[in-house]
Amino acid sequence: MSRKNDPDDIEQCSYAGKCGGCSHTGIPYEEQLNAKQERIDKLFRSSGCRVERILGADSPFHYRNKVHSVFSRDKKGNIIRGMYAQDSHDVIGISRCLLEDKTADTIIEEIRKIASKYKMRIYDEDSRTGFLRHVLVRVAQYHGEKRYMVVIVTSQVDFEGKNNFVKLLKKAFPAIDTIIQNINNKRTSMILGERNIVILGKGYIIDDSLGFGFRISPSAFFQINPQQTRKLYNAAMELASPSPDDTILDAYCGTGTIGTFMSRKAAHVTGVELNPDAVKDALSNAKRNRIENISFICSDATEYLKELAIKAGETDHEKTGHDRNDRKKELLIPDILCMDPPRSGATPEFINAAAELGIKRIVYISCNPDTLIRDIDLFKKKGYKVERAVPVDMFPHTDHIEMAVKLSK
Ligand code: SAH
Repeated sequence: MSRKNDPDDIEQCSYAGKCGGCSHTGIPYEEQLNAKQERIDKLFRSSGCRVERILGADSPFHYRNKVHSVFSRDKKGNIIRGMYAQDSHDVIGISRCLLEDKTADTIIEEIRKIASKYKMRIYDEDSRTGFLRHVLVRVAQYHGEKRYMVVIVTSQVDFEGKNNFVKLLKKAFPAIDTIIQNINNKRTSMILGERNIVILGKGYIIDDSLGFGFRISPSAFFQINPQQTRKLYNAAMELASPSPDDTILDAYCGTGTIGTFMSRKAAHVTGVELNPDAVKDALSNAKRNRIENISFICSDATEYLKELAIKAGETDHEKTGHDRNDRKKELLIPDILCMDPPRSGATPEFINAAAELGIKRIVYISCNPDTLIRDIDLFKKKGYKVERAVPVDMFPHTDHIEMAVKLSK
């Protein structure tokens, strides 16, 4: 494999062990993949399914499309940008990261220079004074080019020299489509506050790398490794293999990316998501992509599925023959369940409801193998079998593992 000879392969990050971002940059990539494979194989030994070969990245460096720096001052008073040291709020100045998009990195460095030149007040977490706290840059692929969103997180609204700042930054990086000032005046480890003020462009960027246009707003969830996301979604599609009559439930759908991806091959997709902002983005994405066979529901996924199971039970009780089938169609009872919960996994009630509904095919996407195995055990108790297990290396050089698993009954 060509990537094996890439000189970057054994590049050791000079901040390794300090920032907590990545832990394996000194290890050749193939070795990292083998180590991850071994971990998953071991974990899946009791599942009754042989894990497939992990899908590695073609270029495992500079993949992150979401890049964050906290601003601070060093002991000499120079403005630095960097990350919090592991388990602390001390800032380590970082001028280069092996995982982040290179241009995003350069944009933040340029902001640091502008801040120094124009003597911007840097926020101090102890005294809670100063102005500039963080910068977040997000990257989208649009018409084959990279486009950028810059979010300047400040402690207050009043932005001295704002117009000059915007002019300088846009001139240095014409690929910046939007700049947003986000106000965060709380004592918190969250980067973004609630209020956004758009100071250039539309306040969002659009990514079309998956063949659909997806709007990305400052706080919306969007997979952080575009190359590998394509592999993950293709794997999910293959495992789901929907036919034109199938109804799909995309549970924990975020901005609706997976459901949108599958909508062309199915009769109908319902997306369920707890975060109202993500649902708003999902609805706007459906419109943008002119997809008419998708709907979104803002709800806790467990509550939604439990209620659906109750309604299906009532239908079985009250109706017969055609009437029963028609009513079930109306309820959009899924033939295929695609689920992508957060690290904590699903709930036992969610799994019970899926089994009660008699859903025959389930594709479980997980970013945490421990909760995945826990949930698989519950599915097995309900009569499901693990058919395929496909790991995807979404986060090279880190310990994280992503998987797509097919369960059937
Ligand atoms: N499938 C999407 C997002 C996966 S991230 C994608 O690939 O982009 C997990 C999502 O689950 C997040 O958007 C989060 O807001 C949502 N979520 C978390 N808890 C939830 C719950 N109890 N019910 C529904 N959605 C939930």
